[in-house]
Amino acid sequence: MKKISILGSTGSIGTQTLDVISHYPDLYQVVGLAGGHNLDLIREQMNRFRPAMVSVATRELAEQLRTEAPAGTHVYYGPEGLMEIAAGNDAELVVTAIVGSQGLEPTLAAIEAGKHIGLANKETLVSAGHLVTEAAARRRVTLRPVDSEHSAIFQCLNGENASRIHKITLTASGGSFRDRTREELVGVTVQDALKHPNWSMGAKITIDSATMVNKGLEVIEAHWFFGLSYDQIEVLIHPESIIHSFVEFVDFSIIAQLGLPDMRVPIQYALTYPDRMSAPAERLRLSEIGKLNFSEMSFERFPGLALAYESGRKGGTMPTVFNASNEVAVARFLQGAVPFLAIEEIIAGVMAKHHTVASPDLGTILDSDAWARAEAERIVKESFTK
Ligand code: NAD
Ligand code: MG
Repeated sequence: MKKISILGSTGSIGTQTLDVISHYPDLYQVVGLAGGHNLDLIREQMNRFRPAMVSVATRELAEQLRTEAPAGTHVYYGPEGLMEIAAGNDAELVVTAIVGSQGLEPTLAAIEAGKHIGLANKETLVSAGHLVTEAAARRRVTLRPVDSEHSAIFQCLNGENASRIHKITLTASGGSFRDRTREELVGVTVQDALKHPNWSMGAKITIDSATMVNKGLEVIEAHWFFGLSYDQIEVLIHPESIIHSFVEFVDFSIIAQLGLPDMRVPIQYALTYPDRMSAPAERLRLSEIGKLNFSEMSFERFPGLALAYESGRKGGTMPTVFNASNEVAVARFLQGAVPFLAIEEIIAGVMAKHHTVASPDLGTILDSDAWARAEAERIVKESFTK
């Protein structure tokens, strides 16, 4: 039995991870689950999977859950609870499915404790990719991508020599507003932005897909996962989300990974790697799809992607700041405090004021993250509150 712990078990990736696990009860044992505020769901998961430990966001929720916990299940809460689920048990693999750079310290703790990582929480790799990849190499643990594009590239590179990569291409569906011009984005609502054409995901990543910031985070994520320069990472619009991404080698041969859009496939590959197993997903039949479409990415239409490349190329603390300011901007958009187009304006405003620190240590990363959040809030207050 492979022991697994999940950070963010009640979210989109977390519940799909448990769905995969529930198909293989003889192969996987859940030893830790961390959720946020959804008490009903974490209770249900706790009773079904009987992990040694669970964690919730607050002390109040933990106190309530404790009265109902089965014998042998310890209940924790808050950031310390997340650290317990990440590193305080005998899991062999930790799936990081929590949202935002708050996943950084638990992920580092899991790596230091020698656990393999199924990495969904891309903000961690964006915020401190050099620290995460260095720690993983030193502790000899594998970082296994859960993000569909990175899982695709990871699969395409099996048995290949990474120094023979010419370029990789991340495909992008285009998000909820792919057919709109920038003028048509003025005044769009939160509900409109939350309607993703191909994937059902958490709110934050759905907004990130609409701004194309998600693809920007993925470009930086790919830089760290595969050790590629930013000139080697391209983005292509592919509305059907069938080709999940591809690698072009120095001989211009291209290897791609295809499938219907179903996150359980990349999630399962992160669990079974380097093996494969039958998946609870539908088969792709290309004759039914008929044709696939592609178009060039426009950096003018999607300035959020341009800002991501800019921050990645600057390096140091700039990607930390790119990510943190986006997290604040998206949270405020979801609350209705700022319009959709303010998101990229806020990120650009914060980046313009940031003095990049090269090769930052963890303390500097956390300071830059906090600084960027405060600066983003200041812009929200000064520019968007009447
Ligand atoms: P989600 O919002 O559906 O779920 C987030 C999870 O984190 C929930 O379980 C929530 O309770 C938990 N959480 C949030 N704050 C917490 C806290 N302070 N303490 C404990 N738990 C907390 O998000 P999601 O869509 O599942 O995305 C999770 C991560 O995976 C993100 O980094 C996202 O970018 C990445 N990702 C998601 C998808 C997808 O299809 N949903 C695809 C690729 C990558
Ligand atoms: Mg993705």
